[in-house]
Amino acid sequence: MKRALTALTIALSLTLPLSAFAKNNVVVVATGGTIAGAGANSTNSATYTAAKVPVDALINAVPQVQELANVRGVQALQIASESITDKELLNLARQVNDLAKKPDVNGIVITHGTDTLEETAFFLNLVVHTDKPIVVVGSMRPGTALSADGPLNLYSAVALAAAESAKGKGVMVLMNDSIFAARDVTKTINVHTNAFASQWGELGSVVEAKPYWFRSSVKRFNNNSEFNIESIKGDTLPLVGIVYGSDNMLPQSYLALQQAGAKAIIHAGTGNGSVANYIVPTLTKLQAEGVQIVRASRVPQGLVLRNAEQPDDKYGWVVAHDLNPQKARLLTALALTKTKDAKEIQRMFYEY
Ligand code: ASP
Repeated sequence: MKRALTALTIALSLTLPLSAFAKNNVVVVATGGTIAGAGANSTNSATYTAAKVPVDALINAVPQVQELANVRGVQALQIASESITDKELLNLARQVNDLAKKPDVNGIVITHGTDTLEETAFFLNLVVHTDKPIVVVGSMRPGTALSADGPLNLYSAVALAAAESAKGKGVMVLMNDSIFAARDVTKTINVHTNAFASQWGELGSVVEAKPYWFRSSVKRFNNNSEFNIESIKGDTLPLVGIVYGSDNMLPQSYLALQQAGAKAIIHAGTGNGSVANYIVPTLTKLQAEGVQIVRASRVPQGLVLRNAEQPDDKYGWVVAHDLNPQKARLLTALALTKTKDAKEIQRMFYEY
């Protein structure tokens, strides 16, 4: 019996390609955040300094990842994500793009602060042309805290980046066992480990290093995107600002952005991205002067409908569809690298 089994094993190893036994190569690109944070005591789950622990220490703290893939680290940034500007974002996208083009890289994990994790993930989703898995991961507690969530998040993120089934799914966010699509994931709670959600649900879950899939995104991303980091020059994007909607709005908030050089303003309006009657003249004037107006909503769920309460066709405004204001900001900035036509920008909002 034993001999038969050995013969079978030898026969199998002769017929299966070497790649069936080889582990995939995954690069962990570290950018800082709480996942690289450290507190004074194990009971400090919320009081700590972000962006302290270097990438090799992060990887070595979870040696189990080497069972899933050949893992190596790159320290791209060491920063709390609220301090990321266009410069860091573009630089990171270029580094990820270069890695994705390397034949010996099968998947990429980006460790990131959770504050603007959704922005970075969405940006990479739009500008990096690849079908290799790119997974953005963070944690809500520093590694020094009791029940730190970073180690398991990192383990699951590496498993996802190494998985054949994760190819071509777009940039993903892995948090708290859930796999989310970069375009619709958002941080919804600032103190719990289940901090991320998508109004359209998760793509799937990772359980004990195995991804289970339940849906896929129907929007354009990665190889199917018309934006490409390789054709974006310099270290800034066209300036786009956000004005948060409430009662008692000030025209000066919008005018200050125009003065600062904004080429578009995201109006994070109430309800259906509504604009107060006394603000409409300011926004129509700005549009006539070449500042694009994009109506998003401060309401976390739903989608902004065109020409409903507000006549967008008449005013030449764009609606952000279901993208939240911070993601609308990035898509508008990328759109402005290609066009100044509001109708074209609207098309992009419906396609991405
Ligand atoms: N402020 C931190 C950051 O975004 C929060 C976190 O990572 O959870 O870098």
